[in-house]
Amino acid sequence: RDAYIEKQFGRLNPVQKKAVFSIEGPLLILAGAGSGKTTVLVNRIANIIRFGKAHGSDWLPGPVGEAELAALKAAVETGAPLAPGLERLLRYENARPWNVLAITFTNKAAGELKARLAAMLGEETGADVNASTFHSACVRMLRRDADRLGFPKSFTIYDTSDQERAMKEVYKELLVDDKFLPIKSAMGQIGRMKDQLISPDEAMEAPQDTKAGLLAKVYRNYSARLKKAGAMDFDDLIYYTVLLLRENPDVLEYYQQKYRYVLVDEYQDTSVAQFHLVRLLAGGYKNVCVVGDDDQSIYRFRGATIENILNFEQHFPGAQVIRLEQNYRSTSNILDAANCVIKNNQGRKGKTLWTENGAGDRVHHYLAESEQDEASHIATVIGQHLKEGARLRDHAVLYRMNAQSGPVETYFARAGIPYKIVGGQRFYDRKEVKDIISYMSIVANPNDDLRLKRIINEPARKIGATTVDKMSDIAAGLGVNLLSVCENAKDYPAISRAASALNGFYGIYLKLVQASETLPLDEFVSRLLEITGYKKMLEAQGDEGASRLENLGQLISSVKTYADQKGEEATLAGFLEEVALISDLDSYDEENDVVVMMTMHSAKGLEYDYVFIVGMEEGIFPSDMCRFSDEELEEERRLCYVGITRAKKELYLSSSQSRMIFGRTQRNPPSRFLDEIDPELMDMEESPAVSGGRSWGGGFGSFGGFGGASRESGHGFGSGAGFGGGAGFGGGAAASPRREWGGSGSFGGRAASASAGGGS
Ligand code: ATP
Ligand code: MG
Repeated sequence: RDAYIEKQFGRLNPVQKKAVFSIEGPLLILAGAGSGKTTVLVNRIANIIRFGKAHGSDWLPGPVGEAELAALKAAVETGAPLAPGLERLLRYENARPWNVLAITFTNKAAGELKARLAAMLGEETGADVNASTFHSACVRMLRRDADRLGFPKSFTIYDTSDQERAMKEVYKELLVDDKFLPIKSAMGQIGRMKDQLISPDEAMEAPQDTKAGLLAKVYRNYSARLKKAGAMDFDDLIYYTVLLLRENPDVLEYYQQKYRYVLVDEYQDTSVAQFHLVRLLAGGYKNVCVVGDDDQSIYRFRGATIENILNFEQHFPGAQVIRLEQNYRSTSNILDAANCVIKNNQGRKGKTLWTENGAGDRVHHYLAESEQDEASHIATVIGQHLKEGARLRDHAVLYRMNAQSGPVETYFARAGIPYKIVGGQRFYDRKEVKDIISYMSIVANPNDDLRLKRIINEPARKIGATTVDKMSDIAAGLGVNLLSVCENAKDYPAISRAASALNGFYGIYLKLVQASETLPLDEFVSRLLEITGYKKMLEAQGDEGASRLENLGQLISSVKTYADQKGEEATLAGFLEEVALISDLDSYDEENDVVVMMTMHSAKGLEYDYVFIVGMEEGIFPSDMCRFSDEELEEERRLCYVGITRAKKELYLSSSQSRMIFGRTQRNPPSRFLDEIDPELMDMEESPAVSGGRSWGGGFGSFGGFGGASRESGHGFGSGAGFGGGAGFGGGAAASPRREWGGSGSFGGRAASASAGGGS
């Protein structure tokens, strides 16, 4: 029996198998990038469901006949699948698919997990496993029991801009000066408190007359406001789920029984609240398996705490720890480069990764003259790869900040290279889409005053901001929602002049409700465009309106897709929930053959044959923030490690002498991370547009020696060729003030040592 089961996981190495077969009790898999952590997680789930405890136990499935035994032996020898009737030989109390909760970091990762489970277990069984992000797992639990916390079960999920609006109202109410406590910063700090499970009451213990005291008041009023609106923000989803489980033993018991196996990927990036959630859920059976890599912890700025992984053995007594050391993803040059960088971090559990993959190409470093030059070089390299048979989608361009995508995008667009930006302005962030979603939201949740305010005068209905303010006062005084103020507008002298406009709006609302009750979901949305006058408004706006209408057309298609997928179960609230949970990565379609561009943060867990990391310059990457903080610098270095280890076959690092960012030209020396990579592992190439001493002055003159290695840029993409040199840029850039960097001396040293290895 064991031989048969092991054969099912034949591709895995012995340590990976050990992890797959240890299904009872707490288990930590701590291992470096590309060592198969996620692979093990998926296989472990398959094992839990297919074979359970059968492996390695001396249990017998009752009397076993000679013929059965022979069939099993034959299956082991030939590798043929076992006849269904014989599966009883392998099953021992195995869990049902819905007994497994697998949590990953992004929706895309969750989708991938589901796809792989479906492949291993069959469509139906795979779909029954609850594989989701923390946020969607929490939404599911809250939809069931949010009323226990005083929220409607159909609560609205606020995104960042909804949050900001609510905060603005709190600021008005408390007369807080945005200059004293910037809203964005307050939002961040409130989020961090929720990550740490600090309640508004606990926050209020801070001394009243301090900034912390003020922040606490803002937090308290903000929470109260959301609760009244029946809304939760993203951080609330986790926070309130923990609260729900803590305060309701019966609910906790239900989930502890349901989820007999809990698995978490990318555990190094979990927050305190998420840790408590995992501990609560796994508190019954204690079958909890987390996988992670302390070197890839890159979300501390968002409240993740590495302590979760470092203290796992204390948190879960009796935990087993398994380390994987073989990397299957990258060539040894890439892996060594990653190790060179990360070993400069002090606070880490050291580990060594090795690979049987060949050395492969050296890591490429390209020194560009400008960001256009950099983009042109990438286009050239991709062009060459395509000629050699690679696909566009084997290529990823990674950067530190979203704002860096612009030049590459522009260049790609001109050169006709299809690409996809992951992140940046999302479809659901467009104004017209948000407006229509707001209308849909108030139909689903009449208490959603915030979204109502967004569209009450959109299109214009002669309901001004002052009227809305007065309405809010009335609503607050009476403890009712804004819709009911609209309904009874003529009863309130303060707004009597706008009474007919408000009544009109209420009429629209009633029509919408009626349409939502009678029409299929997508038809309801197209009717909504008419009832609200939104369509007419856009039609009157010429070209711009037309393109906005197109976007709304796309919204209707996605409603239809949703409705088709869900069939009977499709609801307005369900659709809105999906929209709220869509993260950037979802809009990226694996099937599309395009180059993918995203931040290194978004690239976590993914892998590509060819990876380009742009903007390897001091002040960009590592970012400016870490000039004064070693901790920040170490986080940037981990991010660099994540970036490098995404590459399977080739890695291209580039830095530019000058770069226009946020409307300013900067001239920064190449990143210290380049310094840290052993020059033996790197090939240097310099743009023809870069001339030795011209831009960098003395210390950087040694780069001149690489001129001979330059590749001609501009090949392959005719239309883009003339763009390559970026020649027109040099002069203007040189004129802008050069930034001071104390570290440039060490840079000179690197250039010299790089020249030793760059001769090939
Ligand atoms: P990351 O830290 O980046 O999330 P990871 O540890 O989760 O990486 P995986 O993504 O699971 O690593 O695996 C990396 C690659 O190695 C994948 O392409 C996977 O298919 C492959 N792989 C994993 N284990 C094996 C194995 N035993 N034999 C061959 N290939 C393997
Ligand atoms: Mg992984």
